[in-house]
Order: sequence, then structure tokens, then C-alpha cells
Amino acid sequence: MTDIEIADQATLEPITKIADKLGLSDDQIEQYGKYKAKIDLNVKPIPDKKHKLILVTSINPTPAGEGKSTVLIGLGDAMNQLNYQTTIAMREPSMGPVFGIKGGATGGGYSQVVPMEDINLNFTGDLHALTSANNTLAALIDNYIMRDNKMNLDPQRVIWKRVEDVNDRALRNVITGLGGPMAGVPRETGFDITAASELMAVLCLATSLHDLKQRISRIVVGYTYDKEPVTVGQLNFQDAITIILKDALKPNLVQTLDHTPTIIHGGPFANIAHGCNSVLATQTALNLSDYTVTEAGFGADLGGEKFLDIKQRVLGKHPDAIVIVATVRALEYNGGAKLADLNEEQLSALEKGMANLNRHIKNMQLYGLPIVVAINHFVTDTDKEIQMIKDNCAKQNVEAILTDAWAKGGAGTHDLANKVVELADSPSEFTHIYDVQVDDLQTKLEKIAKQIYGAKEVSFSRKAQNQLKRFAAYGWNDLPVCIAKTQYSFTDDQKQLGAPTDFVFHIRELVPKIGAGFIVALAGNMMTMPGLPTEPAAVNMTIDDNGKITGLF
Ligand code: ADP
Repeated sequence: MTDIEIADQATLEPITKIADKLGLSDDQIEQYGKYKAKIDLNVKPIPDKKHKLILVTSINPTPAGEGKSTVLIGLGDAMNQLNYQTTIAMREPSMGPVFGIKGGATGGGYSQVVPMEDINLNFTGDLHALTSANNTLAALIDNYIMRDNKMNLDPQRVIWKRVEDVNDRALRNVITGLGGPMAGVPRETGFDITAASELMAVLCLATSLHDLKQRISRIVVGYTYDKEPVTVGQLNFQDAITIILKDALKPNLVQTLDHTPTIIHGGPFANIAHGCNSVLATQTALNLSDYTVTEAGFGADLGGEKFLDIKQRVLGKHPDAIVIVATVRALEYNGGAKLADLNEEQLSALEKGMANLNRHIKNMQLYGLPIVVAINHFVTDTDKEIQMIKDNCAKQNVEAILTDAWAKGGAGTHDLANKVVELADSPSEFTHIYDVQVDDLQTKLEKIAKQIYGAKEVSFSRKAQNQLKRFAAYGWNDLPVCIAKTQYSFTDDQKQLGAPTDFVFHIRELVPKIGAGFIVALAGNMMTMPGLPTEPAAVNMTIDDNGKITGLF
């Protein structure tokens, strides 16, 4: 059965019942139909809960599939089945990739969140609100420049781009304002995908409505003719933009197939953005639960690192345990096996590919947190292959546990759940890999590239070098950094699989995201607007006259 067929057969509980499991009264939720609700922003912590946090991350993704969300959801279900009261916090899908290549972001098999069609499509409208808010700000800026432009904002130096939630390469570079004096001031700009927008990051890092407005005020939209930064606050647009986002800021409540409460909110990609669901979603789950299980996008080099170095600082809480998801297939692919051969036993490729997992283990150990590896079981795995991963991990002092979240849901994930609870309940000594105040931007980027990616050296383009100097002068040296790089490799070249060493890591350009509170560094030829593949997922979708959808996943 396909994911959508399994999801279609599920019997959902009314969302009020799921809220009730979390101790939320009807006054603390706003229902969006029968099975979705937004949660009030002022949910207080329940004092006698354990408030433990578990982060699920993974090896580098491959076309062979890793199933991080599937394991996360199976884990949440398993923990509740074993009476460890647990809430899941996840990112909300962006529609662009749904119609492109990625498929859904609601898990798979018997570990799914529902209603999956709604969640993967328009959900509660958060992505639309973000798109509207972003583009309202863009329109206000262009209007400002065309009118009296008191701040002397240089049209050539506006960095605020328009966004849409579509994979649309044709809009990467555009000229706006054509058509004469009353159509604005012509300037070259471009579109990003909404998930990569600064407002998405702002929404995900805001801790309250007040903080949302403060962050929006701090957004730098461009520079004056004298190269001084201009903020939203200086233009006085912050209240209008906050108004558009006031409902989107509230976390969304849904359920798994097994009725585990799941908070899905905010969805920045981990390659071109910071890759974590909202702080408010995680905080709400933590407030109401003994255990919160959450994920960060792509591999531990991207989402994992950004969770620990960016989100953790705002959340004020580090994970109590980390789960690294790996699959036999993906490790073999990392070890050079061909996609077509992955259904056969490939022990030598697996042995080689293990270097990828081992580097992720070593990286997460740098943060001082307890780790368990979850082997996401595929039907094609052999006993020898699974044993090889277990033996390899034992040598790194990490247990590797076989999980069957996809085929059996929570029931296939009990061993992992017990281990996670044991690790989360034991003390740990968390440490960051850079000092956000002491290290300057260049040092931070070098520490991540060398310690996490394994680079021998970091090369900065002429533009990036100039930006490093200017950004220091603007007082931005004490911000964390968010590297935009390919998810497939530790390097900036997506073809370099495994665990390359001795490579130069290239930083092309820096982009200030002062509202979000970090500096993005674009590595290699990373784009912030994805394109569609040769055969987009869209062409295999159908909807009948009764609204029944097939081919979504
Ligand atoms: P990620 O979070 O790593 O992107 P997902 O959990 O979204 O991955 O899974 C991607 C796809 O792979 C889903 O369609 C899911 O059904 C499928 N999948 C995940 N785990 C398995 C498995 N063990 N066996 C078969 N298919 C799986």
C-alpha cells in the first residue's frame, strides 16, 4: 500500500481529544476543521513533567532514502505505547517540493501524521501567510523607493527578495519596476522559495508575538547609497508585517496514525535555511510533555548542526539525547554502490559507506550529547548488513538499534524508544562548537567547515571577504552563522559522497538575516530557489470528481 492509501484508511480522533491528552482546554486551541487546530501562544509549562528533548537527525540523504521523519513518528508512537508521555514536534511541508521531487514530509508506511493531504498541501495557511507578508514588505519597499525615499535606500542594494512556495527556477533573476515612472524604479532582483525566506526563519525563532515584531523590525532590507544598512523598523513597516503573521505564529496540532499529539509548525529547509521547526512548537511540546521528540532537516551536518548552534541558543534547551537515522541502502550508496543494485547485499560498499555515519557520530559527540543510531529497516536488508552496522557502531561506543517504524509503526520501534528514554534520563554535558560572542564570523564558518564537514581549508570569494569586513563594521560579528550547502555531501560538491577529507570548502557570498539573528553563508553554487526535475511529481498526480487524490506520495 502507498503512504496515502494507509493514511486514507486511518480513523482519526477529533482534535479536541488530542488536545485533551496534552491537558489543553477548548479555550487554548482554535480548531481548523475537525482534525487540525492552532494552539494558544500562552501555554504554560506543566510543573511535574520531565521536559526532556530528543533530536532525530541522520546521515547524508541519498536517493535511496533514509526515512528520518518516519523513524521520528514511529519513535513518538512507541514511547507513548510504553507509557513515556511524548509529543512530536515537526516541520511543516513546503508545497514546492511536494510537486517537485521530494514527496511528502509526513512520514511513511505505518508511521505517519494525518491528515497527510492537508498537511502536505495548504494546511492551516502558514506558508501562504508568510508569502503574503514577505511580498507585502517587498511592495512597501518598492513603493518607498518610488516615493520620497527619505532614507536614500539604494535600489541597486535592496536585498529583500520576493518569495513564492513553488519550485520556479524561471524567477531566480528578474527585473521589477518596468513600465515607466508610475510603475516603480526598475531594479534587478529575484525570487526565493518561501521556506528559504528570512520571515520563515523569523517565525521559527520568535518566542512570542512581541519577539516576532522585534525581529521583524531588525530585518535589514538593503543599504543606503552610503552603504549603511536599512531596517524594517526604520521604515516603520514592522506592525503591518506582524499583523499578517499573527495567526501563522501559533503552532499547529495534529496526530499520528496512532493518535500521538504532533505539533507541526514552521518549515525552513536545512540546506538553504536553518532547517528546524519553530521554537514555539518545540517549547509548547516541552511545556506539556515528559518527552518531546523533534527532528532537524537533512543530515546532522546541516539540520543537526543548525539545531545545536542556532535554535538551541534561542530555545535555551539542548537535546537530552540524539538519534542518528541510517539505512543500509543509503550507507551502501555512500560507499559507491549504484542505486539499481541496492536491493542486493553490498557488504564492501556498506563497509566503505560507514565512514559517512561515523563522521556524523563523531560530530554529534563533539557537542557532548548521548547518541543512539537507528537503523531504519528496509525489507531488502540482510542480517549480515545489519550486523555490520551494529559492529561498526559498537566500535564508536554507540549502540545501533534496528527499527521497523515504516512496516510496523510504534510496535516496530520499542527497542529504540527504551534506549532513547535511558539516554535522555541520564545526565549530559552539552557544549557548542563555537563561541558566538568571541569567535568572529570567519572563525565560526571555519570551525563548522573544518570540525563538522572535515574541510582542510575554507576559501572566501572576493565578495565574501569584503562582506566579512563590512559585516564586522556593522556589528554583526556576534551572530551565529547558517551555511547554505548541498545536503548530499560534507563538501560543497554534491557528488562527493562518503566522508571526504582534504578538500577546500568555498564560501561564495554572505547574506545578513538580522531579524532571524544569523548570517547565511552561501557555499558552492547553492540556490535559494529550487527548480523542478525532468519529471516533476506533479505529472503523476490525479484528483477525481469526488476530490480523491492519488499519486501525492
Ligand atoms: P526523510 O524524513 O529522511 O526525508 P521520510 O521519513 O519522509 O524521509 O521518508 C521518505 C520516504 O521513504 C517516504 O515515502 C517513506 O514512506 C519511505 N520510507 C521510509 N522508511 C522506509 C522503509 N523502512 N521502507 C520503505 N520505505 C520507507
